[in-house]
Amino acid sequence: MIIQCPFCGAKYEAPPGRRFYVCPYCGTALSEGKTYENVYIFKPAVDKTAAFKAVLNFRPTAAPEDLPAASPVEAELHFLPLYLYYVSFPPLDQLATYATALATSSPPVPLPTGFRFPARWRTPFKPTLERVGVFHSPDLDPEAAFTSLQEVVEEARAYAQVFKVKIGVEWRLEGLVYYPIWRLAYDYRGRRYSAAVDATDGTVLYMEYPISARGRAEALGMAAAVVAGAAALGAMAAAYVGLPPALGAVGGGVASLGAATRLVLNLAAARVGKYKAEKRL
Ligand SMILES: [Zn+2]
Repeated sequence: MIIQCPFCGAKYEAPPGRRFYVCPYCGTALSEGKTYENVYIFKPAVDKTAAFKAVLNFRPTAAPEDLPAASPVEAELHFLPLYLYYVSFPPLDQLATYATALATSSPPVPLPTGFRFPARWRTPFKPTLERVGVFHSPDLDPEAAFTSLQEVVEEARAYAQVFKVKIGVEWRLEGLVYYPIWRLAYDYRGRRYSAAVDATDGTVLYMEYPISARGRAEALGMAAAVVAGAAALGAMAAAYVGLPPALGAVGGGVASLGAATRLVLNLAAARVGKYKAEKRL
């Protein structure tokens, strides 16, 4: 179906059956035919130049030393839709809080698993001021999106437990919030890499990066050291229990191929590294 934005007049194609529609040109949100009143935005505080700088100076493991000299090629500001909830935990009024959850099932950039968006410091959204960027429409049901706030609920429960109080969980949908993220692309020695930066504070959320020859060699060395170290331990353990050391060494080396070793082995073999931020509060 075609929707005409009541604010800027642009027409856009929208899948039917959604609760909210967001004009991709100006960000104005509609709900059930009415302009949605409670719309907020986190203002981008990091410009394109600063976002690129954050990425190219980030230098994840095994990245080349001259990465800061890579060429920025594309920068697009994306606004992710979040639902804003007011959550309360009766009877403990003091635990009531605002919380936000991602309202789209297909964010334009990879996000850290369990990423928690803030709810404070949002400001009312004015379409006139915010014509820069790509606005994404919410497509999740607010009820379904709320389940990603399980951690907020558990924290409240843990707090209540200290006081031996049993709490309920109630929430109401307060509105929509747009959260700005830079989607970037840069070139390094003829190859293109993508990255994502939180535009509110410059945190690198995701980046692809070249792995230098030296980085690969170092990773191989690390992997070898880990395997050798584990083999030595295995041999010692074998001697201790009276097995032939060679058998013990094989067992130790293989057993040590845990997550850490696989990571360095992957780095040693790959040409493109992928960094994803740890989840944040
Ligand atoms: Zn519009």
